[in-house]
Amino acid sequence: MKALFKAERAAGLELVERPDPVAAADEVVIRVLRTGICGTDLHIRRWDDWAASAIDAPLIPGHEFYGEVVEVGPLVRDIAVGDRVSGEGHIVCGTCRNCRAGRRQMCIRTIGLGLQRDGAFAEYLSLPATNVWVHHSDVTPELGAIFDPLGNAVHTALTFPLIGEDVLVTGCGPIGLMAIAVARHAGARFIVATDVSAPRLAMARQMGADEVVDVSRSDIRDAQRALAMREGFDVGFEMSGAATALPAMIDNMNHGGRIAMLGLPSAGYDIDWGKLVTHMLTIKGIYGREMFETWNAMGAMLQSSATLRESIGRVIAEVLPARDWEKAFAAAESAGTGKIILDWTQL
Ligand SMILES: [Zn+2]
Ligand SMILES: [Zn+2]
Repeated sequence: MKALFKAERAAGLELVERPDPVAAADEVVIRVLRTGICGTDLHIRRWDDWAASAIDAPLIPGHEFYGEVVEVGPLVRDIAVGDRVSGEGHIVCGTCRNCRAGRRQMCIRTIGLGLQRDGAFAEYLSLPATNVWVHHSDVTPELGAIFDPLGNAVHTALTFPLIGEDVLVTGCGPIGLMAIAVARHAGARFIVATDVSAPRLAMARQMGADEVVDVSRSDIRDAQRALAMREGFDVGFEMSGAATALPAMIDNMNHGGRIAMLGLPSAGYDIDWGKLVTHMLTIKGIYGREMFETWNAMGAMLQSSATLRESIGRVIAEVLPARDWEKAFAAAESAGTGKIILDWTQL
């Protein structure tokens, strides 16, 4: 098969022939149809310090995919050849305390697809059957290819109850944008989104934000005033990792406010700890997707809401043939408003 391969522990990727994967007894082989390019994949191609510390090269990267099952191992039940699927990229141990309690997203021995084991930037991919998610027929290949980052957005957005709540979203990359659409779907009252990019903020409005704030020019308080909010935000989604975002969020929360934090800071920063205590705020770290409640919520919400399908579809910026992968990676590097998808049927 053809695959995008990281041959050495150094910068670069190459489209080369690799051996076809074989399904172990409890695994399936999937013919990959579409893949999403993630920030993680850009780090892997660049081979920065993070990639050097986290990636087991040589390997095939890629973890956001949609495909068709072409082979099932003898111990696999409930998945059939021909099923249209995506997959959870965190492969868990099954025996640690959290795994045995059903909290598999908290496994202490996770292996990452496309990080420590061959991933989805290839014509074929093998995956444990327990990680496979079978799609409803109304999920398009492109939508299926972004279930992984959509899952990050859904996990963040549904961490705290949203009905009637006022929500502040800091950071409007693809995951922040999708979280806005999910919060709108899930019954939030006001949604305010912040970023420093005008196109991203325009997109945030399309996704359902009532007010947007360019924090390089104006203050989140102005948005509160414009909406006649009196007490601050009930729920916050920190999606940026920016050093100024969480302090500003804490400053704009109501007492007892709850913050779901997905943005990964690249360095330490200070917050107003006194306010955290006296305003009785909760901050919860969010990583990956709940296995598999987040997947269930994604599938169910998309199936029942054409509006949500349309909103989420907006974050797909471009679909390119896999043979044009270099162009696609360049587009993903340009940090526009949306996801870049590779079509593996065009090699
Ligand atoms: Zn990703
Ligand atoms: Zn475990």
